Amino acid sequence: MNVSVFDLFSIGIGPSSSHTVGPMRAARRFCIEFENLISQAVFIKAELFGSLALTGKGHGTDMAVLMGLSGYEPQSIDPDQVPRLMGEIISQGKIKLLEKFFLNFNTQDHLIFHSDKTLDRHSNGLIFSLIDSAGKILATKTYYSIGGGFVITDTDQEFLKDKNLENQTNKIPYFFKSAQDLLAICSEKKLNISDVMLANEKTWRSELEIEQGLIKIWQVMEACIKKGSQTDGILPGGLKVKRRAHQLFLKLACAPKKDEMNWINLFAIAVNEENAAGGRVVTAPTNGAAGIIPAVMKYFDEFEPGGMTPERVKIFMLTAAAVGILFKEGASISAAEVGCQGEVGVACSMAAAGLAALWGGTVAQIENAAEIGMEHHLGLTCDPIGGLVQIPCIERNTMGAIQAVNSAKLALLGDGTHLVSLDMVIKTMRETGHDMASKYKETALGGLAVNMPAC
Ligand code: SF4
Repeated sequence: MNVSVFDLFSIGIGPSSSHTVGPMRAARRFCIEFENLISQAVFIKAELFGSLALTGKGHGTDMAVLMGLSGYEPQSIDPDQVPRLMGEIISQGKIKLLEKFFLNFNTQDHLIFHSDKTLDRHSNGLIFSLIDSAGKILATKTYYSIGGGFVITDTDQEFLKDKNLENQTNKIPYFFKSAQDLLAICSEKKLNISDVMLANEKTWRSELEIEQGLIKIWQVMEACIKKGSQTDGILPGGLKVKRRAHQLFLKLACAPKKDEMNWINLFAIAVNEENAAGGRVVTAPTNGAAGIIPAVMKYFDEFEPGGMTPERVKIFMLTAAAVGILFKEGASISAAEVGCQGEVGVACSMAAAGLAALWGGTVAQIENAAEIGMEHHLGLTCDPIGGLVQIPCIERNTMGAIQAVNSAKLALLGDGTHLVSLDMVIKTMRETGHDMASKYKETALGGLAVNMPAC
C-alpha cells in the first residue's frame, strides 16, 4: 500500500486521467529518462495501443502526449495555452522536447494510433522511441496508464523506485490492504479512518504540508465549480454538446428556495463540463468522475452549518482516500480495466465515506456508506459517445454525487451492521469488470457509443 491521498487527488487537466494525465506524465518521463540520447536523435515516435488508440482522440491523448514530450506537467500546464502550443507543433512540424531540444515531428507519422492492437499487460499502453538519422532505435520504452493518472512500466519495482516509495511500505505505521484490516486498526487503536490515513501520510510529508496540500486541492475544486458555472457555449470534440451549468446556475440563483439536489447537480455538471473542455480539474480519483467528490464537498459547504472548514476538508479527503486505496489495491480505478464502475462507482463510494465521516458516522457506518455507494454501481459500463468524456459522463457524475449523499444518509440511519461488506463489493466489482466484454471498457465500441453514433 504505497498510495498517498495526493496520488488519488491530483491537480491536472481534462478530459481524462488515464487518457490525458497519465500519457502526459509517461511522455515527459520518457524524455527525462533518455535525455542524454535526445541530441543524437532525429525524431521521436509515440505509439498508442488499446483503449488509448480507440478513444485517445476524443480523450485528448494526442494533445497530452505532445505536451508531455514538450516537458509540461498536468498540474502546472496552463490549459488556455494548450491550443496555441499544439498549433505551433503541427504547423512547424517540429517539437521542442523538454522545452530544450528541437526534433522533427509530424503527427501523421510520429504519433501512431494502433486501434487494432492491445499490449498484453494493460489496455492503455504507450511505446516511445528515439530514432537517429540511420533509422537506428536509440531508446524505446513501454508505459501503461493504469487509471487515475498513475503510470507504470514493465517492472513494478521500477514504478516504486520512481515514486521514491521503495521500502516505505514497512515504514507506514498502519498498513492495510482490505477494509477488514482498516476496521481492525481503527478498533484496536481507537482511531478514525482519517486518523489512520493521516498517520500514514506523515511518512511522506509533515502534517502542515498535508493540511496545506489538501486545502489547495479543495481550492482548485471550488475554482473549477465556479469557472464551470460561469462558462457557457459548446463543448469541443464535434458532438456539439451545449454546456448547461451556467444556465442552471442562473436559474438556481434566482430560485426562492434552495433545493439541495439541484445544487448538487449543478456542482457536478460544472466540474465535468470544465473537464470535457480540457480545463483545470482535480483528478478524484479519475477525471471522468471528477465532479462527484467536489459536488458532495460543495454541498456540505453550502448546506451544513459552519460549511467546509480546513479540518473538515482534511477529514473528508483522508477518509475518501482510504476508500480509494481499497479499490485501487483490491480492484481497479481504470475504466479500461473494469468499466465505469471503476470511475463513477469508486468516486461515489469515496464521497459517501467522506460525507458519512463529516456527519459523525462511526467507522462501521462509514464502511457501510462506502459499500452502498459501490453496490449500486456494480456492472456500470463505459461507453462514451464519440470517445468524448461528455455523454454519458457529465450527467453520470450528478447521479454519482446524489447517490453518494443518499448512501451516507442510509448508512447513518443504521448502526453500521450490514450483510454485504465493503471487501465483498470490491471483490465483486473486480470480478464483474473482468467478465465485462471489452467493448464496454472505454473503447467506444459498444453501448451508447454505437447506438448514438457521433456526427
Ligand atoms: S462512461 Fe464513465 S468511465 Fe467511461 S469515460 Fe465516461 S465517466 Fe469515464
